[in-house]
Amino acid sequence: MKIRTRFAPSPTGYMHIGNLRTALYCYLIAKHNNGDFILRIEDTDQQREVSGAIDMIYQVLEETGLHYDEGPHKDGGLGPYIQSQRLNIYHQYAKKLIELGGAHYCFCEGDIEDIDPCTQLSQEEIQEKLLQNTPYVIRQTIPQDGITSFQDEVYGYIEVENQTLNEGILIKSDGYPTYNFANVIDDHLMNITHVVRGNEYLSSTPKYNLIYEAFGWKKPTYIHLPPVNKDETHKLSKRDGDASYQDLREQGYLKEAIINYIALLGCSFGEDEILSLDDLINKFDIKHISKSPAIFDIEKLTWMNETYLRNLSLEEFHQLVLPYYQHITKDIDFLELSLVLQPRLEKLTDIKYMTDFINEPYPFDISIYTHKKMKTNPENSLKALKLVLPLLEEFNEYNNDEKFVTEFIKFAKDNGLKNGQVMWPVRVALTNKSLTPGGAIEIAHILGKEETLRRVYKAIDDLKN
Ligand code: GLU
Repeated sequence: MKIRTRFAPSPTGYMHIGNLRTALYCYLIAKHNNGDFILRIEDTDQQREVSGAIDMIYQVLEETGLHYDEGPHKDGGLGPYIQSQRLNIYHQYAKKLIELGGAHYCFCEGDIEDIDPCTQLSQEEIQEKLLQNTPYVIRQTIPQDGITSFQDEVYGYIEVENQTLNEGILIKSDGYPTYNFANVIDDHLMNITHVVRGNEYLSSTPKYNLIYEAFGWKKPTYIHLPPVNKDETHKLSKRDGDASYQDLREQGYLKEAIINYIALLGCSFGEDEILSLDDLINKFDIKHISKSPAIFDIEKLTWMNETYLRNLSLEEFHQLVLPYYQHITKDIDFLELSLVLQPRLEKLTDIKYMTDFINEPYPFDISIYTHKKMKTNPENSLKALKLVLPLLEEFNEYNNDEKFVTEFIKFAKDNGLKNGQVMWPVRVALTNKSLTPGGAIEIAHILGKEETLRRVYKAIDDLKN
């Protein structure tokens, strides 16, 4: 039988990391088995719906490469795939479930106690109330004896006494179904074989199973996933300011790195940690999903992001970072800038502060010329800059780093200076920053001869005063 999984997000805002991981595991389980991955939009809680959220779901799945085989705009014959367009279907099945004894009309106002008094109403009483248009909900009817059990692929054997289950609402008074009903109907009608979702649904799964049983339907395989936490005890939560997928993208993380990293949150794939989507598909094994909460570690993600950046070819890296150079108005050697940034960059948004000296150096700060390790101070820096100026003026191959370095080293030696005693003052003269991507040669190369000289003249002036 073909494996079919579904990702069933509610359009309530951002793509949380936990949700995206659920989507990814749904996708991996399906694709590892040459199955189908279905997208279903669960928008039955109209009050929680956020406008634009559905488009955001499409966009994130598209961007991350989690392409669905069936879903909105991709009809596989079992739609509609948006729950608010399936209300007739739910009503039809709710009526059937009432006939089968698995549900009942409830006319109570407000919440009910343990046992719903409406289960005691006679057929005549029910008909009469319906004829009078008394508002109602449809509740699940739970047998008061017996146990319901099932096998979860991650959490193992689960068993509950039926009397501990509440007779929850299946169809609300506004005619919309609750998740507790719609998920069962849709998973059945859409031929879902493997239900993959967060473990917050583990405890209500017995109730869903009672519905499957009442209809005489085959139950799916259940794969409940552990939560993604920020520490030992707290779940990641957007409300507490934890990053969503979109936030991470805005912070300069690559989509490939994010997908790779979240795949590892709650599942092991062997020793190799850097894995493409295809690698993940090949290696995925339900048996390796862990029961315990995964902890989201931004430093690990940053490490992974760096690794992805380093693994690109220079040309790929350059194309990727070009849009992040827009603030640079100087006509510089952008490819050299990319070359210098690639081994140092952690995330794309860092480019801005790493390159903020390019348009103009920082304001003069004499203290930066003092560097213990380089054995420099403002006095010997001024001397070194004056001495090296003719070299900078006469040298014409600023784009030949190797030759430039050789010239510098020779110059230092000839003048009885340590390399750092020339390099450091030049680097500071060009930037007025103590931390820069690349050293004097690379920065001079990026800026070009004219700009380099302008800055060195200015630094000499500043140091003289
Ligand atoms: N709409 C539910 C949610 O977003 C989906 C749960 C499920 O996958 O069944 O939590």
